Amino acid sequence: MIVIDGSEGEGGGQVVRNSCALSLVTGQPFRITNARGKRQKPGLMRQHVTAIEAACAIGGAVCEGVAVGASDFTFTPGRVTPGEYHFAVGTAGSTGLVFQTLLMPLLLAGGPSRLVLEGGTHNMLAPPFDFMAKAFVPVVRRMGAQIEMRLVRHGFYPRGGGRIEVDIGPGTLAPVDCLDRGALRSVSGTALFAALAHNIAEREIVTARKLLPDWPEDAFAVRQLPDEQGPGNVLLLEAVFEHATEIVTGFGKLGVSAESLAKTAAHRMAGFLASDAFAGPYLADQLLLPFALAGSGSFTTVKPSQHALTARDIIERFTGQRWVFEQQSNGCHLVRR
Ligand code: ATP
Repeated sequence: MIVIDGSEGEGGGQVVRNSCALSLVTGQPFRITNARGKRQKPGLMRQHVTAIEAACAIGGAVCEGVAVGASDFTFTPGRVTPGEYHFAVGTAGSTGLVFQTLLMPLLLAGGPSRLVLEGGTHNMLAPPFDFMAKAFVPVVRRMGAQIEMRLVRHGFYPRGGGRIEVDIGPGTLAPVDCLDRGALRSVSGTALFAALAHNIAEREIVTARKLLPDWPEDAFAVRQLPDEQGPGNVLLLEAVFEHATEIVTGFGKLGVSAESLAKTAAHRMAGFLASDAFAGPYLADQLLLPFALAGSGSFTTVKPSQHALTARDIIERFTGQRWVFEQQSNGCHLVRR
């Protein structure tokens, strides 16, 4: 049994999700103690419990001690069965985080699957739908996977009610080298809102335009969603390169002004554009799992986050593979085995 101290490294929910995915793929049971030990309110939250339960459902796994608030649990994997699955992630729990947990095991399960996830599609501190569909999945497709995903309905915190559908073909993952993102092809900035004042989205666009002065005026747009999908607001900044796409998201939140949200997002995007990296900070921590399951490959990224370093350590516990981050002369980091 692999025993993981959940307070080490990043010490959050990602340790739990990556452990479930790796356990299902490698067949090794694990125990986590001090789950989410570095968080203000440690222990499993509803969305982590849902992810573990979903992993049990697709993988015939048995877990003990899994409950909201629990900090010590075990997970014994069974056999992953491809097929049709439908999970409701609490009210506005992130569908992206459950998707992160289930994608690799289903992809490698030897048959087609359809995954329907309901809950939040654009949650703070989690990959929003657009990021998964445009930044993450295309890289995994490049490794040979067949994945199609659709956003049926947006879901924002706290109301939720979003829905995504994912079709996953059977396949294997082949190592790829993603060193060069290629030339910048197009950019866009979209302020989405539902059941909120129109001017919130307009102010986000005005601020983003000011801070990304090279972006053409018609690259920016406001998009109003039906009221019943709200209240909610996100600013999505997208840069499409020849071989990679980066999506930076600003999440609307009570108490955070439209200007301040847009400023943070635009600065992040400008920082990424100024680098030569293939993957931004979030994509880097998420790519480690598929790259490790492919057994090899490489990509370049910005300075590794604590999430990325922790993902690397969890991967080593399950696979014995040691992935390294090597700083290069242009400031990028090369991630390789
Ligand atoms: P906790 O409450 O324990 O922090 P959590 O389960 O919500 O836990 P984390 O451990 O912080 O999650 O992991 C969050 C995941 O969401 C990471 O894989 C990170 O890359 C991803 N993520 C967070 N924000 C974004 C974003 N704006 N765009 C893309 N991905 C994101």
